[in-house]
Amino acid sequence: MALYHSAAFVLHTYKLGDADQIVVLFTQEFGKLRVVARRSHSPRRSTAGYYQPLLLLNAIVYGRPGQALYRMHSVDLVQAFRPLHEDFLLLRSGLYMTELIDVATQERAPVPELFTLLQETLQHLTQTATPRMLLRLFELRLLTVLGYTPQLVHCVQCTRNLEAQAQTFSPRLGGLLCLRCGPTVPHTSVVSLVALQFLRHALESGTTMGIQPEPSVMVQQELECLLHGHLTSCLGRELKSYAFLHL
Ligand SMILES: [Zn+2]
Repeated sequence: MALYHSAAFVLHTYKLGDADQIVVLFTQEFGKLRVVARRSHSPRRSTAGYYQPLLLLNAIVYGRPGQALYRMHSVDLVQAFRPLHEDFLLLRSGLYMTELIDVATQERAPVPELFTLLQETLQHLTQTATPRMLLRLFELRLLTVLGYTPQLVHCVQCTRNLEAQAQTFSPRLGGLLCLRCGPTVPHTSVVSLVALQFLRHALESGTTMGIQPEPSVMVQQELECLLHGHLTSCLGRELKSYAFLHL
């Protein structure tokens, strides 16, 4: 048996028998781990309330290296991100990011860049009332970390350089198409030059916050459509929490 100590976020939980639950943790050090923990409150110290998303925890789990299921040894609350638990829109945004991390990661495969991205973006989320562009930048950074950066410089089909004008984007091919290739590929969308400039700038700056002024609502919709199409194509599925963002 070995002890594993790491900062962690809960991705989701499910019941196991009458008293236990399986807590799926996204840990900074060890990636995603499945951990058995008590569901009932201990009379001495209540930590069962920590097993929910959007709380930064310090967790110690134990088990044999490489096994599928670990046991919780102890857990402490490091940061509560309180505003996210008090505002429905921020809560839904945080849960969407949590689901994205869950779908994008494999068990016992550490991705510390994604852990930092989640932690930093949740921190920024506590300080905003309009999280829409923050979510787009989170999606873009996540795609980049996973190796799915959208191709915005050359035509994704023929590699020809692109003109400085509105272009066609293919979610399936993961990039822009030149004027010649655009009409030959199905299921594409047109992206305005303003939206493209925003994306290119965001990719170059590599940060999640404060990189440029918020674009117009129309451009925000374009960016959402493009990134959502590319994400679901890369991940191979729709996100359950995505529909709740638009309630
Ligand atoms: Zn082309």
